[in-house]
Amino acid sequence: MQSNSLFEKMSSRLDELSILPKLDEAVSIPQLIEEKGFSRREFMGWAAAMTSMLMLPANFTPLVAKAAELADRLPLVWLHMAECTGCSESLLRSSSPSIDSLIFDYISLEYHETIMAASGWQAEQNLEHAMEKYKGKYILMVEGGIPQGLSDFYLTVGAHGKTGEKHAKEAAENAAAIFAIGTCSSFGGVQAAAPNPTNAQPLSKITNKTVINVPGCPPSESNIVGTLVHFILYGTLPALDIYNRPKWAYGLRIHDACERRGRFDAGEFVQQFGDEGAKKGFCLYKVGCKGPYTFNNCSKQKFNQGTSWPIQSGHGCMGCSEPNFWDTMGIVHEPLANRLYHTTFGGLGSDATADKIGLGLLTVTAVAIAAHAAISVLKNPEV
Ligand code: SF4
Ligand code: SF4
Repeated sequence: MQSNSLFEKMSSRLDELSILPKLDEAVSIPQLIEEKGFSRREFMGWAAAMTSMLMLPANFTPLVAKAAELADRLPLVWLHMAECTGCSESLLRSSSPSIDSLIFDYISLEYHETIMAASGWQAEQNLEHAMEKYKGKYILMVEGGIPQGLSDFYLTVGAHGKTGEKHAKEAAENAAAIFAIGTCSSFGGVQAAAPNPTNAQPLSKITNKTVINVPGCPPSESNIVGTLVHFILYGTLPALDIYNRPKWAYGLRIHDACERRGRFDAGEFVQQFGDEGAKKGFCLYKVGCKGPYTFNNCSKQKFNQGTSWPIQSGHGCMGCSEPNFWDTMGIVHEPLANRLYHTTFGGLGSDATADKIGLGLLTVTAVAIAAHAAISVLKNPEV
């Protein structure tokens, strides 16, 4: 789509949204952001960064700012399944709130078990009321894997003892868009790791509706809020990769945008934590970094209001946004390619293989990327 017609389409969608009632007529998102000490310039800086993250041209920044200001017009239902609540915590528990977390605090959250005041019967009534009142209009975000056991009678929730599966199915039925937030909801997570004793399933196995996966353990606050802003702007689902992850967030490998990539290419590796290489910021591949196999934008968006991310702080990527990473990414502090190279290069040991990795691994990962891209294009021919 040409950027002019896209601009016009987004503008008219935002105009339509702006006449919908606000969550609270007495307060607005711009007002709230100003009260928390952010200047208009800082807010526009945030909007410019969000525009670039969503892969839109810079002249779309005012539209992105307006979309964020209208985030209280779309009702949102957030369900908890089997999880640690880390994805909610990623957004809500910062000591000095970011613009992302302020926007999330103020959206029309019709139901969220962690932060709502209601409990028991009243909480269930709130959920039923929201799903009825906003039928076909609400956004559904689900956090956590959905354990089913041998039947679906696992994870009973609330006063009626409904199963998590039933809650998720009912809420998905009339949602305008469905997002699986975090790796547990996207792919099953640690609950689904072998031997998966509770038969935990990802949300996409529970409903036959399209589910957009926003994995990460946890996903960054930017990716969660970006998902929301993208939906407000487009009103449609984003371009997806093979695992139904938005390409704007999961289109690049950690390895491709890593600040230590030059060290990798130069063959400069940390041999063990605390050594001279670690002090000099060498590549963490030999101490288990799974960045070459992992698609996410952590190096750009970072965590804790953009303070840092695992590799910057000296620990390798664990591959947390990939399906079944608990089972497939091997031992945390050992290179995954040990096994690959052990068979591929005639039984070379881990040290030998890691030193030759610059050439060999790139060949392997280039094949993987080509396959990834090819399958994505087949799945989304318009992208
Ligand atoms: S292996 Fe890890 S630390 Fe090294 S360049 Fe790749 S992503 Fe960065
Ligand atoms: S760096 Fe890797 S393990 Fe860490 S959050 Fe990003 S994808 Fe997950």
